[in-house]
Amino acid sequence: MELRILGAHNAESKTTRLESHLIDKVLVLDAGGLTRSLSFEEQAGIRAVILSHRHFDHVRDLLPLGISLLNSGKTVDVYAIEDTVKFVSEKLLDGTLYPNFLEFPSPETPVFRMHTVEFFKEFDVLGYKAMAVPVYHAVPAAGFQIISGDTRLFYTGDTGKGLSEAWPHVNPNVLLTEVTFGNGDPDRAAVAGHLTPNLLEESLNDFKDLKGYIPKIIVAHMNPAWEATVRRELAEVEQRLGLDIQISEADMVLDI
Ligand SMILES: [Zn+2]
Ligand SMILES: [Zn+2]
Repeated sequence: MELRILGAHNAESKTTRLESHLIDKVLVLDAGGLTRSLSFEEQAGIRAVILSHRHFDHVRDLLPLGISLLNSGKTVDVYAIEDTVKFVSEKLLDGTLYPNFLEFPSPETPVFRMHTVEFFKEFDVLGYKAMAVPVYHAVPAAGFQIISGDTRLFYTGDTGKGLSEAWPHVNPNVLLTEVTFGNGDPDRAAVAGHLTPNLLEESLNDFKDLKGYIPKIIVAHMNPAWEATVRRELAEVEQRLGLDIQISEADMVLDI
């Protein structure tokens, strides 16, 4: 599985992009810094999108992607839990901001087709076995396990304390997760539903207790103001747990 990091932060600037990832050039995980990371040709190769939750930094680029694909004659399938589908259909793609890409250019071949997925119920997307698992966040949110061959990726999306409740339901060898704030701001992390290095470490220890191993860890969604601190604190977690943590950066391509 080729995992291309398109955006690895929770705030956008000239040098940081909102969260988005691309699997094997065809499957998108969250649509933050999506279109600004890809050529038109690469955008035309996208066949499906999985959205973790309705927050703007994860759904925003459906709009510019819709414009890019408008004349392609293709329909891209978008998968999410009910809350996200409802928001995207009724607020983002309702035709107010841009054409209604769920019916445009024609109801038979719209740019996007929404699919509501149930928690814990495996579904097929482009031949990948996918499954949504609830995670703790400020709004209803899902992590997604995506299996292809021997690769079992669990993408948590945005999540906070309580991530360990997902562990009995998934079996990843690669964990793509978030660390937004440093250990110095546990209150904000708790209110917003995000991880700090301490919270990630706790959850990885829970994982190890339950499964007897720790998957490969890739971290994204850093808050730029906390980034230097998060990197330092994650280096300490690496030392304590005796493992490597990959901190993702935009345009990084990982063979997982
Ligand atoms: Zn969020
Ligand atoms: Zn976010």
